[in-house]
This record gives sequence, C-alpha cells and structure tokens, in this order.
Amino acid sequence: MVSPVYERVVVKLSGEALAGPAGFGVDQTVVETIAADIAASRRLGVEIALVVGGGNIFRGVEVSGRGVSRPTGDTMGMLATVMNSLVLEAALERNGAPATTLSSVPMPTVCDHFSRRRALDLIGEGRVVLLAGGTGNPYFTTDTTAVLRAAELDCKAVLKATNVDGVYEADPKQDKSAKRYDRLSPREALERNLKVMDSTAFALARENRMPIIVFSIREPRAIEAVLRGEGRATIVAD
Ligand code: UDP
Repeated sequence: MVSPVYERVVVKLSGEALAGPAGFGVDQTVVETIAADIAASRRLGVEIALVVGGGNIFRGVEVSGRGVSRPTGDTMGMLATVMNSLVLEAALERNGAPATTLSSVPMPTVCDHFSRRRALDLIGEGRVVLLAGGTGNPYFTTDTTAVLRAAELDCKAVLKATNVDGVYEADPKQDKSAKRYDRLSPREALERNLKVMDSTAFALARENRMPIIVFSIREPRAIEAVLRGEGRATIVAD
C-alpha cells in the first residue's frame, strides 16, 4: 500500500465544483464522483476535513448594495455552504465514508456546532468532518476558513481543488503559453503576484507555514492522486 503524502488534510472545494455543466446548483453525478474520490482517499488512511464553498448557490458580495447589506448577504452565503455540506455528507455516507457536518453558524436542529475539540474527536474516530458555515463571520471566504481550520486542527496541508491543474503565471485559458509551476514558495507567489487564494487566506497560510496544494478537481480521482503523490498539482510551500 502507498503511504499517503500527508496524514491529515483539509480539502477545499469551491461550490462551483459541485455545479457541473450548469454552473449553478448541485449536479448529483458530480457530487457522487467527488464523494467516491474522498472515500477512496480516506481508505488510504488520510484523515480528512472538508470545507465546501457556496458560490454555486450564493455569494454575499453579489447582492451587497442591492437591497441586502453585505453582512446579511454573507450570512446567506454561509447558509449555502451548509446546504452543500449536507449534500456531500449524504454522498460520502453512501460511498462508505462515515461523515459528520459541523457548522460554525449554530443551527442545532440541522447539525452540530463546530468546536475544535468536537472536530478532533470525530476525525480521531475516522469520520470525514465537513466544516460548514465558513468561519461564521461575514467578510471572509471559505478559502480563509480552510486555512484557519487546517491550522487549528493540526493538518499538514490544504488541498485546494480548482478547475485548473495548478498555479500559472497568467490565466491559462487566455494565455496558452502561460508558465505552470510544479512548486513555488509563498514568497515567490507574493512577489510574482500569482493568485493562489484570496489575500486573507494566503496571509494566514504564510504565517502558519501551511502548504497549499492546487490541483484540478476535473481529473478522475484527483484528490486521491494528490494524496498518493501522483497527481498533477502545484505545491505552494517553503
Ligand atoms: N462566507 C462568509 N464568511 C465565511 C465564509 C463564507 O461570509 O467565513 C460567505 C461569503 O458571502 C461567500 C459565500 O459565503 O461569498 C460563499 O463562500 P465562498 O465565496 O468562499 O465560496 P466558493 O467561492 O468557494 O464557492
């Protein structure tokens, strides 16, 4: 059996990763594929916490100034992440990976409230923990949530699933000759102004020396491949 590269990780999925070709909402076929990938990764022995965005349903910044305040819009965005987490929780259980959603926004009739202690206990029991509700605060993103929780839960890396197979010097969709990096330091990423995560998330990762692995979720079994050290990805680390 291959030893996984990291023994405990946060996997960050954008809400759009669940949307499929429609670009919004939840595509059940896509959800099943991702859940099977995470279940296979869990079988490698990797402990996994999952942070899912909400952009396939709602982003606070999109309604800000249009009759809804930014904090209220952000709250709606955080609720969207809870919906996505519940969809994935069910799919993970169907795929044989016991999973529990914890929310940073208290909603006791829906799921348990996040605490570091509770999350660590569940991870220790071998469950995949879905960290819903973002940080619980407006003006933040789920990228920031992923890095924050990875640091709190003593994870060894954040696996950031995107639509491209790593970090490029320019948008590869617009510039076909853009250079792709296999590895780069956070300092280089900053100096070259390369977009890895939003600035708050990236600053937190730098301060806590948290490696960020950027890869494409569009590849089959992408998460498992990264954890086996075989996937195509950019590693952002010192
Ligand atoms: N959000 C928030 N605080 C957080 C995390 C998320 O207010 O700590 C809100 C914010 O409105 C954000 C939305 O939830 O736009 C969805 O999260 P995100 O944009 O990170 O989702 P993704 O782009 O990954 O799908």
